[in-house]
Amino acid sequence: MIESIYAANEQRYDGRMKYRRCGKSGILLPEISLGLWHNFGGVDLFSKSKEMLHHAFDEGITHFDLANNYGPPYGSAEETFGKVMKDSFSPYRSELFISTKAGHDMWAGPYGEWGSRKYLMNSLDQSLKRMNLDYVDIFYSHRYDPDTPLEETMQALIDIVRQGKALYVGISKYPYEAAQFAYNYLKQRDVPCLLYQGRYNMLKREPEQEGIIKQAKEKGSGFIAFSPLAQGLLTDRYINGIADDSRIGRGGFLKKNELTEDILSKISKLSEIAAERGQLLAEMALAWLLKDNSVTSVIVGASSVSQLDKNLNAIKNTAFTDNELSLINNILDQ
Ligand code: NDP
Repeated sequence: MIESIYAANEQRYDGRMKYRRCGKSGILLPEISLGLWHNFGGVDLFSKSKEMLHHAFDEGITHFDLANNYGPPYGSAEETFGKVMKDSFSPYRSELFISTKAGHDMWAGPYGEWGSRKYLMNSLDQSLKRMNLDYVDIFYSHRYDPDTPLEETMQALIDIVRQGKALYVGISKYPYEAAQFAYNYLKQRDVPCLLYQGRYNMLKREPEQEGIIKQAKEKGSGFIAFSPLAQGLLTDRYINGIADDSRIGRGGFLKKNELTEDILSKISKLSEIAAERGQLLAEMALAWLLKDNSVTSVIVGASSVSQLDKNLNAIKNTAFTDNELSLINNILDQ
C-alpha cells in the first residue's frame, strides 16, 4: 500500500492559532501546545498518533512537548514522533519547536535518572536518535534533584546548548528557591532559561499561589502549563461515569480515587458556568489559564482529533468578566 505524502495545511498561519511571546525572548509559542505523555506510545495505535500530530500542525500548533520516558514503554513517544518527523514533518523542521526532558527514571543503574551531567547528556543523545533530530529546540531538566549540586545540572544544560544539541533550556517542577538559583546561574552564563514548565489548572493552582509564575516573569522566562485539564477531570469525560477508554478506565496516571464527590460536584458547577459562556468545560478550563498573559502556552493532551479540536476552540474566548471569575473562585474555594 502506498501511503499518501503529508502536505501541511496551507492555511495553518491564517490566524486560527494565536502565538505569545515567551518571556523576554525571541520565541513565540502557540497558545495551545500538544504533549505526548500519553497516547503516543508503543502501546497506542501509530496511525491515530500520527493523525493527531498532523492535525495539530495543520491547526497552527508548532510546539510539541516530549520527554525521554514518555510512552509506554519509555522512549516510545519519542520514537513515534521520530517516525512522523522522518515521514512527514522533515520539510517543516524550521517551523517546529520541539522539546524533550530528562530527570525522571529512564534506564536502570545509577546514571538513569535525576540531575547528573552524565544522565542529562547521555539521555539527550538517545532522545535525538529516537526523534530523528539533530537538535531539540528546548531541553529541560525535568525535575529538581536535591542530591546533585544545581551547578552541575545547570552547567550540563549550558554545555548542551554550546554543543548545539538544544537551542534553549528550561526547568520543570523546580521549587521556588531552586528555580531562583537556576534562573540566575543560567542568565549569568548567557543561556537564559526560556521556560518554566509547571502543573497548573483550575484544580491545582500552586504555580500561582507559590509565586512561580510571577517569578518566571520577573526573570524573563516564559511559563508553560502542563496537565491544564487535570488529566481530563476538567472536561466532560467523567460526568457520566468512567469510560473504559478513559485515562482512569485504562489505569493510567490518573487514579479512580481522584474522582471524588467533591471534584464531581465542582466539575458539574463549572460546566454550568462554561455553558453560560458558550463553552465546553474543557474550553473554559484552558481559557481560564490563558486569561493571564504570563502563561505563555498550555500543553494539552488528547486521545483523539475531536478532543484536540474542542481544546483548540478555547483560544476564541479567553476573557472573563469579574462576575464569572468570582463565581469560579467560589466554586474552587469550596
Ligand atoms: P491534560 O490535562 O490536557 O489531559 C489530557 C487528557 O484529558 C487526554 O489524554 C484525554 O484523556 C482528556 N481530554 C483532553 N481533552 C479533552 C476533551 N476536550 N474532552 C474530554 N477529555 C479530554 O494534559 P496531560 O495530563 O496529558 O498533560 C499534557 C502534557 O503536559 C503531557 O503530554 C506532557 O507533554 C506535559 N506534562 C509534563 C509533565 C512534567 O513533569 N513536566 C508532567 C505531566 C505532563 P482520555 O485519555 O481520558 O481521553
